[in-house]
Amino acid sequence: MPSTSKTRKKTSPKKQTGSLARERSDSQPEGRSDSPAAGSLEVDERSADDAFLSLDIGGTNVTCGLVTRRGDVLATDIFPVAEAGETSAEIIQLVNKRLYALWRDSKIGRPPLAVAIGAPGWIKPKEGIVVNAPNLKGWVNIPITKIVSEALSLPVRLENDSNLYALGEWLAGAGQGCDNQIVVTLGTGVGAGLILNGKLWNGSFTSAAEIGHIPLGPSNTVTCGCGRVGCLETMASARGIARMARKWLEAGKETIFKGTGEELNAQIMNELAERGDPMSLHVFKQAGLALGQILAGVFNLLSLERAVLGGGASGAFKFIKAALVEYLEPRLVTASIDQIQIVKSSLGIHAPLVGGAGLLTAEGF
Ligand SMILES: [Zn+2]
Repeated sequence: MPSTSKTRKKTSPKKQTGSLARERSDSQPEGRSDSPAAGSLEVDERSADDAFLSLDIGGTNVTCGLVTRRGDVLATDIFPVAEAGETSAEIIQLVNKRLYALWRDSKIGRPPLAVAIGAPGWIKPKEGIVVNAPNLKGWVNIPITKIVSEALSLPVRLENDSNLYALGEWLAGAGQGCDNQIVVTLGTGVGAGLILNGKLWNGSFTSAAEIGHIPLGPSNTVTCGCGRVGCLETMASARGIARMARKWLEAGKETIFKGTGEELNAQIMNELAERGDPMSLHVFKQAGLALGQILAGVFNLLSLERAVLGGGASGAFKFIKAALVEYLEPRLVTASIDQIQIVKSSLGIHAPLVGGAGLLTAEGF
């Protein structure tokens, strides 16, 4: 792993234009390391208190964080994507302002070393481009790394949002100590990051682990946000769960829910399920069975040891897990159900922020 000097020049932050520029130490790496996907929160001779800015762009919310090298989240700022406006340019402009404000208000006194961005969809990490994010309208070929780097005068690295989530859980959360696992994010969409042989797996085209778009089979004819038909995401994402619940309501089936379909969200659904609501229990079971179907293939293909479930819809973890295990158990061939673990994320929204610190540390910052 590349190392940096112990003695960094301390600089005063610039006052104008939101710049977080700092003088770079002579040994500051200029490019990506050869093993960007390793992930690390190792401190070695670098200061554990070095701070990074981490950014997680979701389909619904944007989460900004100031995170130390050791993975402590010093401050966070969350705002709805919709608050920023319609276009990617408006969203990135607000992101830059909020990232700068997060650092300024933290009063940590020294500029962050770099920025890690977790973005959804198909990305090109080395080029710093979001190629296509189906859950973000109009996000096609956005050079986000360049835009944020120029605005904040800091080095920026881009990674898939679910990959950063997986890195965070693996390095400091529910994925610790397991070198072969999948971390699934059940959010607006369904994403995943794969840790294989103790490394984040990007695949040949940097788009591995798109579990949300694995087809469920001919019986599922629902069109996904990606434009294809029958993806897991149509059943196991927050949107998919809400869609199934609305269908239940429209059919006039039994439920204790008195509101309209538009009012339903993951949190309400979870509360309803806790109270034994047949609609919510049915929907979570369908989501869990669908996830179990795909995970049966993934576990058998890769001989994984653990699946960590995170994201907004994982609040209903116990309901989803029950159905998932029901499907998975009789279909596992690479291990017995007792040898694997299905666990809930322990870092929650902090996971991609901590993963960002791990990525940047592994990159030598
Ligand atoms: Zn899809």
